[in-house]
Amino acid sequence: MPLGNSPFRKYILGLETKVPLANGQQTNYINFDNAATTPPLYSVIKTLNDFAPWYSSIHRGQGYKSLLSSEFYEDSRKIVLNFVKGNPVSHTVVYGKNTTEAINKLSYRLSNSEGKNVILTTEMEHHSNDLPWRNRFTVDYIKSTDDGSISLADLESKLIKYNDRVRLITLTGASNVTGYKNPIYKAAGLAHHYHTKILIDAAQLIPHSPIDMKHANESEKIDFLVFSAHKMYAPFGTGVLIAPKETFLNGSPEYSGGGTVKVVTQDNVYWDLPPHKEEAGTPNIMGIIALMEAINSLTKFGLDKISNYEEKLCNYTAKQLQNIPDLKIYNTKKIPKVAIIPFNIKGIRHDILARCLSHEAGIAVRNGCFCAQPYIQKILKISPGEIKRHINNTELHPGLVRISFGMYNTYEEINKLIEILNDISKDKN
Ligand code: PLP
Repeated sequence: MPLGNSPFRKYILGLETKVPLANGQQTNYINFDNAATTPPLYSVIKTLNDFAPWYSSIHRGQGYKSLLSSEFYEDSRKIVLNFVKGNPVSHTVVYGKNTTEAINKLSYRLSNSEGKNVILTTEMEHHSNDLPWRNRFTVDYIKSTDDGSISLADLESKLIKYNDRVRLITLTGASNVTGYKNPIYKAAGLAHHYHTKILIDAAQLIPHSPIDMKHANESEKIDFLVFSAHKMYAPFGTGVLIAPKETFLNGSPEYSGGGTVKVVTQDNVYWDLPPHKEEAGTPNIMGIIALMEAINSLTKFGLDKISNYEEKLCNYTAKQLQNIPDLKIYNTKKIPKVAIIPFNIKGIRHDILARCLSHEAGIAVRNGCFCAQPYIQKILKISPGEIKRHINNTELHPGLVRISFGMYNTYEEINKLIEILNDISKDKN
């Protein structure tokens, strides 16, 4: 049994929290649901507390606190770009409430261009990088290879098939179901070779892996990037969309109102420049303060170090899980992945299994389809009949249980998970 605690554990708030069990006792909460949301860093909450007496509405106030808040808010865009190596001249950073909103915003803006009405995406997307495209574009899905990653050959043949009609290739940096990482830079190279652009949904990649939008090879640069702060150890309510400035220069924003305009007359509206044009209403300055501290901490810790540690946890867990009777793991392909393990135990419904872990041991995991139903339907080979029974509420949609690791999880927590899973698997017979 490997020993040792997480080197990052001391930085995370709330790990001593006790939760009630079914037997009336209490236990330490163990969180293996980090792909949904990560707990906050101490430093993030401290920074929020320190800044709380100073925050004020930004941009149009001349009061000291307003000026200070405005300065922090605007400077933060450079810090975000630096974190993912975006281009400070050609890129703009638009803030919103999460990844989902960022993708919807982009879909709205890109849909106004004539002729290019095809979006190429993958079969492994979160609904947030699938549904926002469906009603505005023709969406085609790049096939996966046998090893589970996207087929670059299929991507290329689709780029040739649709010729100049492809508005955007959009793919997740890492799947929230299997953790499989996509070859984002190679896909970017193909996008540019065929005169289109690429968006990477980095919601799952960002807390685990450095991202380099500019990339050493210019032709493989990333054009658009989206991610959420709540998956990188900061609280909810902040999403980031990085895009070439020209995306927003012409036309009207999806949401209009305060903050988006230069001049308004009774007859006319003269929009402000991006990013302001795209940020209607009073911005979430506290969310940005939190994101800045999260970026600062993750940079200090080193994303490579974080992902190395998480990979060891993940490999150790996968090895232990293999010894549990009737347990099947669904991401066994040998390709790069973030620290996620989807599994189920034959004969136990995914919802009951997840509830048992919580009620018996205080262990939090996620179950179901993780907002990626088409991908789960493919992985589990779910028949149209089964889907229909779910739509009619006569049957639970088949799904999986997902363990997703954060940098603070420990071997001790894993051993507890393995122990209880062993008990559950044995007890079912
Ligand atoms: N994309 C991926 C790959 C995700 O895992 C998630 C959330 O789980 C999202 C998009 C949506 O993120 P948000 O809920 O923060 O908008």
